[in-house]
Amino acid sequence: MKTSPANIPDVISPEYLDELTAICEQHRNLVLTYLSFSAAELAGATSFKAMWKLLAKYGDDRVYIPRQGNRFSNILSLIGKENAEALSIKFGHDWFNLSSFSGAVVAVRRMQRDLKILELHQSGRSMRQISKEIPTSTPTVRSSLKRMKCDCSKCLKNGAFS
Ligand SMILES: [Zn+2]
Repeated sequence: MKTSPANIPDVISPEYLDELTAICEQHRNLVLTYLSFSAAELAGATSFKAMWKLLAKYGDDRVYIPRQGNRFSNILSLIGKENAEALSIKFGHDWFNLSSFSGAVVAVRRMQRDLKILELHQSGRSMRQISKEIPTSTPTVRSSLKRMKCDCSKCLKNGAFS
């Protein structure tokens, strides 16, 4: 794993998962474009909260999603009956490859950084000022704004970030 975990605590507390869940719920559609395909699929079938719980427990591994029955109980107690059934309907009787927990945290932190860059840009800061404030490089600022598809008058007029 080459991406450094974004300050992930040694012990993953329920509060930490709640914090990550809240960020995802605040930016529902946007966060799906940052998360891995498998994580986004999990969130789509269940909820962000269930996705974080599953990643925290089974991340970076394959998990068997049973249709029904006894082997259902582990996942059921982790994410609740309703979510477990939704998973079972969508992926039941098959193995599911989960991406890593730390990868999902890095994705969320990356989205937050992009949002911050966009906010600073729209408040009138230059790319150089933003790069000092974050801090990061100006090419990173530029690619962030590109990713965020800024449609402010300045960007539209000058094509500054296209
Ligand atoms: Zn702009």
